[in-house]
Amino acid sequence: MVSSARQLSALIGGKTEPVEVTRRRGMRRLVLRVAEDHLRISCPYGVSEQEILSFVYSREAWILDTRRRQERESRINQEGETGGVIYWLGEPERVVLRSGERQPAYVDGGQIFFQLSEPSPKQVQAAFRALARQKLQELITGEREQWDLRICQASGLPLPQIALRYMTSRWGVCHLRTNQITLSTRLIHYPECGLQAVLLHEYAHLLVPRHDARFYAVVHRFMPDYEERIRVLKV
Ligand SMILES: [Zn+2]
Repeated sequence: MVSSARQLSALIGGKTEPVEVTRRRGMRRLVLRVAEDHLRISCPYGVSEQEILSFVYSREAWILDTRRRQERESRINQEGETGGVIYWLGEPERVVLRSGERQPAYVDGGQIFFQLSEPSPKQVQAAFRALARQKLQELITGEREQWDLRICQASGLPLPQIALRYMTSRWGVCHLRTNQITLSTRLIHYPECGLQAVLLHEYAHLLVPRHDARFYAVVHRFMPDYEERIRVLKV
């Protein structure tokens, strides 16, 4: 339950960062998140502003690291400037903008084409995301069959729904209660083995909810080179 928010600021790496503080009932510790242009703290009631700031400062190196990673990622995900590059399944595709409406976006021979009536960044992004979804759906359909069979049917479990969502903090989530796996559309930027590893990871949660030794035993049994595949996502 969210009850109050208030803004502080901290000097991180020589730059002033706004810190949004949200106090929640029932929280035991401070949680720090690095958002695009500010920091976010969730904490229990009764933690002073000074304690919050010293917590933030104790994480300065991590914050700077996270920012660097975010910057690298935003370069990878750069969407929509002529001459720019979008990574598509691990391959850099040069962006070509054209006018026309026949096919809003497609990938061909090292280039990604956008044909839009008005190639604004927003339209390009929408066209890109639609194309990414379509491709990911296709890959997932091909890939899930073996896990439906070997994991679900072999254990008498119902087949999960698989949804796609633009998520920045996770590659995949498995909601056991609703029997739904959600994958991040950002997987489109990385080699296909990344998607394969995340999909298996989430299917393995249908058998073992937690990340314990049993979980990884399942993962490695079904995908002996899991670590190698998932590594492509650690940019
Ligand atoms: Zn997991």
